[in-house]
Formats: sequence, structure tokens, C-alpha cells
Amino acid sequence: MQLMRRKKKVSANQDHHIEAFFKIVGEKEVLFEDVDMLSYNCDGFTIHQHSPKAVVFPKNTREVAALVKYCAQNDLPFLARGAGTGLSGGATPLNNEVIISLVKMKGLLSVDYENRKAVVQPGYVNLHLTNSISSKGYYYAPDPSSQYVCTIGGNVAENAGGAHCLKYGVTTNHILGLEVVMPNGDIISIGEDGVPDSPGYDLLGLLTGSEGTLGVVTEITVRILKNPEMKQTVLAYFDQVEDGSRAVSDIISAGIVPAALEMMDQTAIEGVEEGSFPVGHPRDIAALLLIEVDGIAAGIDEQIEEILAVCRNNHVKEVKVAEDDAERGRWWANRKTGFGAMGAISPDYLVQDGVIPRSRLPEVLEQINEISRKYELRIANIFHAGDGNLHPLILFDSRNPGETQKAVDAGSACLKACSDAGGSITGEHGVGIEKIEEMRFIFSDEEIEAQTRIREVFNPGNLLNQGKLFPMPGRCLEVKKAVQ
Ligand SMILES: Cc1cc2nc3c(=O)[nH]c(=O)nc-3n(C[C@H](O)[C@H](O)[C@H](O)COP(=O)(O)OP(=O)(O)OC[C@H]3O[C@@H](n4cnc5c(N)ncnc54)[C@H](O)[C@@H]3O)c2cc1C
Repeated sequence: MQLMRRKKKVSANQDHHIEAFFKIVGEKEVLFEDVDMLSYNCDGFTIHQHSPKAVVFPKNTREVAALVKYCAQNDLPFLARGAGTGLSGGATPLNNEVIISLVKMKGLLSVDYENRKAVVQPGYVNLHLTNSISSKGYYYAPDPSSQYVCTIGGNVAENAGGAHCLKYGVTTNHILGLEVVMPNGDIISIGEDGVPDSPGYDLLGLLTGSEGTLGVVTEITVRILKNPEMKQTVLAYFDQVEDGSRAVSDIISAGIVPAALEMMDQTAIEGVEEGSFPVGHPRDIAALLLIEVDGIAAGIDEQIEEILAVCRNNHVKEVKVAEDDAERGRWWANRKTGFGAMGAISPDYLVQDGVIPRSRLPEVLEQINEISRKYELRIANIFHAGDGNLHPLILFDSRNPGETQKAVDAGSACLKACSDAGGSITGEHGVGIEKIEEMRFIFSDEEIEAQTRIREVFNPGNLLNQGKLFPMPGRCLEVKKAVQ
């Protein structure tokens, strides 16, 4: 049977703005019917859902600029969206925004191996870059676990991290230049003038991690790295979380900087073993560490020996080294699909994202256990232990009255524990709408006000991604109350 393609007709009561979008990007590139809006009413933070006005799919910078100019001139709130994998509600249309989806701007524009850089469009999927250059022996280092689908534009906006950011740094350390459509429609280029240190303000640093509140990124120049000559991976099982946590600190204190140092607790292990990529982790251990070292071949064996010794000193129950790339690949698939795997053991889960000084791991993990007991909700921990970036996953069932709110409150309590331990409320997932009130855990009103003024310089009408990142009196309370 042939499916009839639904003909898009702007009905009499549909406003003239949709007609204007048709003219800018073409009729096929505009969605506005209620049923189509359902897929765009939130990102990976599904607790808040709000319908956008329309979703438009520009194919180039000129079209993005024309859309932005139109929104600015007609007082229409708008926001940029990549793959929608964000976990803090950054791409959620709180104010009936026009969503500018960058997914059709997904080209790899150039690769310059000599100068180790590549230019991509914002909708280019993170992992596609490494896949495209690996045959020449290069890769793109920032590797969020969502890298199979998330876009580099979204990574820039969130300053995304990943398992291998312990040694190589997060997205901001790999961005050399940006082309940006400003909230008034002007197109600017920043960075990438060929010199290592430019005079003036570090606008690249400001734009990277600004959560889509300062401009729409339309082109990105990234640093690419030569593949390490060798890598080796260790899996260590512990009966006590404290032993695993101490091993993390001891490895770094020994002068080793692993490429990755990941931890999972017992509940997380239960989830990943029930999920799509089980690898046979024992269920009766309290924690596991996944440790990877890489670099020139000389010295890797010594580092592995030292890591094994640290694990033994911390009463490791079992420790093994990956036999080959296939085994390493299985361990990583098991880890990187960890968030989604929680769906196998809980109807709903909320991902949190605090960061703490590494040395405070044991005590903060214990506080998270207390929060779990207090709110009577299971919490799984699966996280980048090496850089102290915790991801408590709060398991709940939204069908039980009041349980969603309990999960939100438990998440907030976890972030309070992180900030009280000298850490912060986000390591990589951003503030979005999710952690907007928690910004007050780490910033005074004056500090929030000062940062809001920076946003006003770029985004004076506040039409771009309004209500995100910084609390505003009154408004955020409404957001928090919207939780059912
Ligand atoms: C299973 C899973 C695992 C994850 N693991 C990690 C991880 O290990 N590390 C990590 O850091 N994150 C992780 N994330 C979170 C998420 O994938 C990242 O924040 C990612 O950078 C979002 O990219 P996206 O293309 O999906 O952006 P979206 O979700 O579409 O947007 C995110 C934000 O960026 C803005 N934005 C998007 N494109 C642009 C643009 N071109 N110009 C300006 N602003 C823009 C949006 O307005 C929004 O505020 C994970 C998410 C999931 C679902």
C-alpha cells in the first residue's frame, strides 16, 4: 500500500509566519502541525514538555540568518536544536519557540591533516567525524556517550565532555573557530585566524558552553588528533565502593593520567547487564572501574602494571586487562549505553550531572546513598570518576502520584551535596531548565545578574532560548511548579 503524503496546507487560522518560513526555507522544510510538534516538545530531559510554534530545517547559513532575522523583527521566540539528546532541557521550547533544527546542515566541509583541523556544519554527528578520518590515522577526541547521534553544534553549545575528556579535555579544548548567526541575524566568525593566541576577549570560550543563548552556531572548526600508537584497558571489580573510589585517587596520585577512568556502582551494573550490551559483569560486586591508558607504546605496559598494583592495594576482587580491541569495544559499548540501559530496570530515570573534587568521591557517594534512602528511590551511579563528574541516575515511576517530584527533589539534593563538597552543579550536561534554580547553590544574585548582562549584550531582546541557564525571579518558580 502506498502511503499518502500528507499535503501541508496553511489553514486560515494558521498565522502568516508559517508562510514566511515557507518562503525562506521551502515548504518541505517546515513542520507546524500539532502531531509533528510532539517529537520536538522536549529533549532528553523529558519531565518538561512544551509545544514549539514550528520546526524549520535550514540548509545553509544564509537561511539560518534569514530565519533569525525574521524572528527578531517579528518578536518571535526561537531556539537552535541539534539531535535533541541534551539532558537538561536546553532545546525544550518553553515559550512556544520557533525551533531552528540544524540537522540538515550535516556536512564535513574540509579536513586539513597538515594543520590538524576540520570544518564541519553544526548538524554533523560527533562520531561521524572520527569515522571519516580514522583511515588516515586521526580522530576527534570529545566523545560523549551519545556520540552516535548527538551533533557537534549541540556539543559546542553544551561544552560536552565524555569518557576520554580526563586526559584530552572537553569540547572547548578542541574548538578553533566558529561561524555564528547572532540573535539579530548578523553572521560573525570568531577564532581560527591562524595564530595560537589572539588579542582581545576569548569569545570562542564564551560561546562554547553558552547553551544556545548567545547565537546559532552554523560552522565549526575543530582540532583533530593523531590516533595514539597504543591503548590498553583494565576492568577492575570491587566489593566496597570506598576501595574503588580510593583506587581512582591513587591512580592519579601515582602520576598516571588515564585517557578514561569510569566507575559504575552495583545498581548501574544491574542495569547495563539487563540492557542491550551485557558483558557478564558480576552482579554481587559494589563497584567497577574501567580504566584506559593510551599514548606512545613505550611505557604503556609499565602504566598498566602500576594500575594493577594500585587496584590490588585497594582490595580489588578481580582485575583483568582487555585481550584485544574486540573485548575493549564490548566493555565500552556496555559503558556507553549505560544511561539507556536503566530503562531495563526502571520505567523512568532522571540523569543528574554534578562534579566534585576527585578526593571527595567516597563521602559524596555515601551522601547520595543517604538521599536514595531518604527519598525511597533507587539511585544508580555511572560516571566519569577520573574527573569527579558524577551521574546519579534517579530511578522512578512517573505513574506513581508524586514520584516525579520526588525524583526531581532527590536530584536537586544530589547537586547540593556536590556543591557543598566544593564542586559544581554540572560537569557536562548544562543547566538548561533543569538546574536553573540550583545555579543559586554556586552563584550569588550579583554573580547571576552579572552573567545575565553578558547575555543581554549578545541577545538583547532575549528571544533566543529564553528562560534557560540563569534563574530570573518569578519565572523559574513557574518552571519548577510545572512538574506534575
Ligand atoms: C544516552 C546519553 C548519553 C549522554 N552522554 C553524554 C556525555 O557523556 N557527555 C556529555 O557531555 N553529554 C552527554 N549527553 C548529553 C547530550 O548528548 C549532549 O549535551 C550533546 O552535546 C547534545 O547535543 P545535541 O545535538 O543532541 O543537542 P540538543 O540537545 O539538540 O541541544 C542542546 C543545546 O544546544 C543548543 N544548540 C544545539 N545546536 C546548536 C547550534 N547549532 N547553535 C547554538 N546552539 C545549539 C540547543 O539550543 C540546546 O540548548 C548524553 C545524552 C544521552 C541521551
